Amino acid sequence: MSANILVVEDEPAIQTLIATNLRRSGHNVLTAFDAEDALNQVRQVLPDLILLDWMLPGMSGIDLARKIRSEQRTRDIPIIMLTARSDENDKVLGLEIGADDYITKPFSPRELLARTKAVLRRRAPQVTDDMVEIAGLRIDPVTHRVAADGKQINLGPTEFQLLHFFMTHAERVHNRTQLLNQVWGDHVYVEERTVDVHIRRLRAALEATGHDKLIQTVRGSGYRFSTAISSV
Ligand code: CA
Repeated sequence: MSANILVVEDEPAIQTLIATNLRRSGHNVLTAFDAEDALNQVRQVLPDLILLDWMLPGMSGIDLARKIRSEQRTRDIPIIMLTARSDENDKVLGLEIGADDYITKPFSPRELLARTKAVLRRRAPQVTDDMVEIAGLRIDPVTHRVAADGKQINLGPTEFQLLHFFMTHAERVHNRTQLLNQVWGDHVYVEERTVDVHIRRLRAALEATGHDKLIQTVRGSGYRFSTAISSV
């Protein structure tokens, strides 16, 4: 599993400990010592996950989490709060502002990695290495292979990513902007109709086995990946 993780922690020793452990398990780690630096980095690139210390100099971790949740571009970023407090009230406050999980200091590297993995699996399954199989269509992010009814399908890199995002977020409608942000990156300038071009290519590659029908056009909204091939 390789995710872009932003670690916001003002204590250098703890920041290094977290970053080292996450890098060792294959993640790409960015670091910030305060909220302002973190916000600057989030403006450049949306991370897949933020590990956020509660007590920071200047703007607190809680205020930063609130700010991230209040803006449309950043509101869906998963957040794990790091805290020295194990007070129930603080936990409730953290969950109220929309933190996905909590790690109470001191913590072991094993706990850090387990919680990180669990949150990514739940909130950002497109960055996990899990094989996904739906209606006879199977995608393997490790080997980059796709098979339909056991037969290998060759896809270009963009179609592969698009299909992986669809299969990890099935039965939900995604508009073109969301697909662009997820598959192409949110600061990459691509015209919305580019999405349609790649959807067309993806459908063509899946047509022989009828799996193209899993990708449904939702009029006026975007696209949905269905978990069953319907005859409509
Ligand atoms: Ca701190």
